[in-house]
Amino acid sequence: MFQKLSPPTSGETIHMETGNRLRVPDTPILPFIEGDGIGPDIWRACREVLDAAVNKAYAGKRKIHWFEIYAGEKAQAHYGEWLPEDTLKAIATYRVAIKGPLTTPVGGGFRSLNVSLRQLLELYACVRPIRYFTGVPAPVKEPEKVDFVIFRENTEDVYSGLEWKQGSNEAMRLIHFLNNELKAKVREDSGVGIKPISITASKRLIRMAIQYAIDHQRSSVTLVHKGNIMKFTEGAFKEWGYEIAKEAFPQQTITEDELWQNHDGKAPAGKIVIKDRIADNMFQQLLIRPHEYDVIASPNLNGDYLSDAGAAQVGGLGMAPGANIGDQAALFEATHGTAPKYANQDKVNPSSLILSGVMMLEHLGWQEAADAVVQGLQKTIQQKRVTYDLARHLEGATLLKCSEFATAISNNLA
Ligand code: NAP
Repeated sequence: MFQKLSPPTSGETIHMETGNRLRVPDTPILPFIEGDGIGPDIWRACREVLDAAVNKAYAGKRKIHWFEIYAGEKAQAHYGEWLPEDTLKAIATYRVAIKGPLTTPVGGGFRSLNVSLRQLLELYACVRPIRYFTGVPAPVKEPEKVDFVIFRENTEDVYSGLEWKQGSNEAMRLIHFLNNELKAKVREDSGVGIKPISITASKRLIRMAIQYAIDHQRSSVTLVHKGNIMKFTEGAFKEWGYEIAKEAFPQQTITEDELWQNHDGKAPAGKIVIKDRIADNMFQQLLIRPHEYDVIASPNLNGDYLSDAGAAQVGGLGMAPGANIGDQAALFEATHGTAPKYANQDKVNPSSLILSGVMMLEHLGWQEAADAVVQGLQKTIQQKRVTYDLARHLEGATLLKCSEFATAISNNLA
């Protein structure tokens, strides 16, 4: 089945049932990509904590069978390419995988390995929960009010790769077409890019966000857009969001307008409020009134900015988990990069990857193990036993190595 991979001889494959629900065996085979730079350090830490939590929560009845697959520098060494077909096939086959950060190859024909993975596997939603852990140094006054989940569209918008260099033949042809056929006024010395936003990609993303809100008893879904300026792309995203809420979830959702017109601003029990905010306003809303936001759905670029800004509010990228989810597969990942200057020093904070592992456990339906990790992490931070990035802002902290931090969490599992 694979060119160079040997799957584990024990463990079972996760299957998909009708309605895209996973059927997860007690011994799932889960592929992992260790990642480049600090990847090996944080992956070792993450694996230790996840295995300990699963063992603790299910007393040996459940166990993950890890399966190493390759992307980035390690793939280059094994295969002579950055993103082998084997890797895509393994993620598609086993449905759920986790990865460390990857170096973006310069001149390898890729814009980014991460973007390629998302597009090739149709992992159309980038999901980023942003929440605060007590004790983490944060730059805002009330970080404990932050608890929202961002669903960022992953496949289109200005990330589609449709752009042409200033002066190129393609750019000149496109500019001439725009100016001559569509009577636009584009300067001849422009570089040009195209921003496609489709009904298909918008509705499936927003549908997933609303379904998440329903499954996790969240109170609202906010559509973040710049539709006042880009009416037919960002504005359409908002309109299609309201449409899919009415089409697919008429009983479970209510719009913010209906809320004020018919219910005095108070949501009826069990109804999820669908609202929208213009992107620039949303940045200040999340700083000033974060508790009013719960689930956020956004086109690609807005979502990219919002995710990192949100992560900064609760203590930075070292603590921010993420996942790329499609209908057929899900890939969980650290949201930061490879931090090459810290590679192989056993130094950095593995929390981003560990919390991505928590999202993965939740995705499998293994909530008890997920909760155990969160409590273990929370307790370790409250004990002020932390890695350098947190220790430098935390008075009285005990500085731990990456591996020591993982062991402390494992020992603190509830
Ligand atoms: P980066 O690797 O995220 O590192 C920037 C800084 O963030 C580090 O110097 C460090 O800050 C802090 N940091 C990152 N991870 C941390 C951790 N686990 N614990 C503590 N601190 C952490 O960003 P970059 O230097 O811009 O990018 C390096 C490479 O990563 C590039 O090749 C880029 O393309 C790639 N990248 C990959 C991904 C991905 O695979 N998902 C994402 C982004 C970037 P201090 O220096 O203050 O300690």
